[in-house]
Amino acid sequence: MTWEIVIGLEVHTQLSTHTKIFSGASTAFGSEPNTQADAVSLALPGVLPVLNKGAVERAIKFGLATGSHIAPRSVFARKNYFYPDLPKGYQISQFDLPVVGQGSLTIQVEPLSGNAKPYEKTVRITRAHLEEDAGKSVHGESQGVTGVDLNRAGTPLLEIVSEPDMCSAAEAVAYAKTLHTLVRWIGICDGNMQEGSFRCDVNVSVRRPGEPLGTRREIKNLNSFKFMQQAIDYEVQWQIDTIENGDKVQQATILFNPD
Ligand code: ADP
Ligand code: MG
Repeated sequence: MTWEIVIGLEVHTQLSTHTKIFSGASTAFGSEPNTQADAVSLALPGVLPVLNKGAVERAIKFGLATGSHIAPRSVFARKNYFYPDLPKGYQISQFDLPVVGQGSLTIQVEPLSGNAKPYEKTVRITRAHLEEDAGKSVHGESQGVTGVDLNRAGTPLLEIVSEPDMCSAAEAVAYAKTLHTLVRWIGICDGNMQEGSFRCDVNVSVRRPGEPLGTRREIKNLNSFKFMQQAIDYEVQWQIDTIENGDKVQQATILFNPD
């Protein structure tokens, strides 16, 4: 029995502005914890966010580079959730009116196995929206203690969402690499994956040919192309085994542990 693989990516790119998306605090990486957590980043009472023009310009630049629709009017929304690294209780993001709408990216796919030939494919971009990053929980600096570093809170991100147009790990990796090259080339993101400036969430499902889309599982925060390929290969096999054993795939968000 053959299976079709369906993959869609959500990529968080950290925009290369020197200051945060809604305040003048620095976005420099690696400073002493909480030295760049200003009143706006923490949403202390009485503060008002003021949008960083540079973040919007970078989002539009991405939209133009991918032939995407640029919204003449765009709106921010609050996404409420509780997390220790988000003490204000909500993230400012975009929902129904993102800066960048539908577009596409053409990729060159190098098949990962066998002697298959490279081929070209166009992946549809669903949208790209601006949002602020959260802080970071720091585990294990001293035993039994987790620290919270809010320097990253309020760093501008462009989340680029693709349609579920990829059907192999090779295509997903080619798409992510092309995007990585593009955002660096147009100068909107430094692409530093070790520092988390370019993070990929990979949505994977499988189905039998001709059937509707299967249930997806989302592998969060992949920050290397090698891990992306390994994670997809592992996940695809796991989903096929699950279904062939007579079980159902439940929608879930998961992490990849390379070990
Ligand atoms: P969420 O934030 O809930 O993950 P988004 O709409 O931001 O939702 O992103 C969903 C991602 O999952 C998109 O990249 C989309 O292409 C992909 N996707 C949707 N359905 C499937 C599916 N059945 N299989 C694989 N990927 C899917
Ligand atoms: Mg999403």
